[in-house]
Amino acid sequence: MFRLGLRRAYATASECASPYCVKVSKAQRTVNGFVGAIGNTPLIRLNRVSEETGCDIYGKAEFMNPGGSVKDRAALYLVKEAEEKGLLTPGGTVVEGTAGNTGIGLAHVCRSKGYKCVIYMPDTQSQGKIDLLRLLGAEVYPVPAVAFENPQNYNHQAQRHAASLPNAVWTNQFDNTANRRAHIETTGPEIWSQLAGRVDAFTCATGTGGTLAGVTRYLKEVSDGRTECILADPPGSVLHSYIQSGGKLVERSGSSITEGIGQGRITDNLKPEVKLLNGSVHVSDEKSVEMVYRLLDEEGLYMGASSALNVVAAVEIARRIGPGKTVATVLCDGAYRYADRLFSKSWLEGKGLWGAVPEHLRKYAVL
Ligand code: PMP
Repeated sequence: MFRLGLRRAYATASECASPYCVKVSKAQRTVNGFVGAIGNTPLIRLNRVSEETGCDIYGKAEFMNPGGSVKDRAALYLVKEAEEKGLLTPGGTVVEGTAGNTGIGLAHVCRSKGYKCVIYMPDTQSQGKIDLLRLLGAEVYPVPAVAFENPQNYNHQAQRHAASLPNAVWTNQFDNTANRRAHIETTGPEIWSQLAGRVDAFTCATGTGGTLAGVTRYLKEVSDGRTECILADPPGSVLHSYIQSGGKLVERSGSSITEGIGQGRITDNLKPEVKLLNGSVHVSDEKSVEMVYRLLDEEGLYMGASSALNVVAAVEIARRIGPGKTVATVLCDGAYRYADRLFSKSWLEGKGLWGAVPEHLRKYAVL
């Protein structure tokens, strides 16, 4: 008789009949299909920046969603809501205007549920993104990159396309508040439970505003307003100045190498929660790029620039409110989709950002 020494950790026999079952958390149990795998992501303590600030700084590992980003949650809620409202029935089509992760999330969700997916995007986007969407089964229309006010803007074209088809829905991620609801009902409660209610501050950047607004709404409610919720904003976005000026919306100017974040208007997703925010932090591209390299070197985390920007903001807030406090932020996606930019010396030089990479970390720029 072999003694395998395997752990027997199930609490009761009714949970598992085999003596060799190990206890698994709810997040590790089997799930139903692609959509069942969305959410329940780990909250990763970022050890080095935590030591540096004397606070516990955590990043919500949204890059571990099955489509690779925080936008899988919104994609699922947008589709679910359309189904619940009867706007989408079997064989139907989802149409969206998106330059990135929402389209990828929607393409996955649509494939898994048997819907067609049509994506309009500005033609400035990389061929890699177009190829990925097409191989996920989406029909992709790259259209000239023009301002939101122009009727030929990719969002308006998506809306018209949906209106021209039977059983089709324009999911409208920017102003459809099903997006924010995904984070009120999932991301916010997960962060609160994972930290057992010890969330002194939360910070995150905004594209549609769904993540920031939804998590803020939930955390403010359950903490009786005690959790400080702070916007993190890149160059070229108007939201930082909007919050700092107490509500003045200026013309958009400047740009950022971060992708998927920064906004020129107050979207419907953001509108009800703007007044709940305790402040905002502006993060330069130099700081975001430096943090991309630091996260890789110090934590082994291969993160996109919006995740790095969020961590820079979390460090700044930790310094402001700490030590001994807990700050949570979001690791929105991995660096895979941006590697040829973020880890290319010549690309960074072209953007004037090579100097932002600390000398001892330049060995990572191998592309
Ligand atoms: N980071 C990345 C990489 C994204 O693609 C997005 C969504 N555009 C965000 C952050 C912001 O998320 P939200 O739309 O919920 O504001």
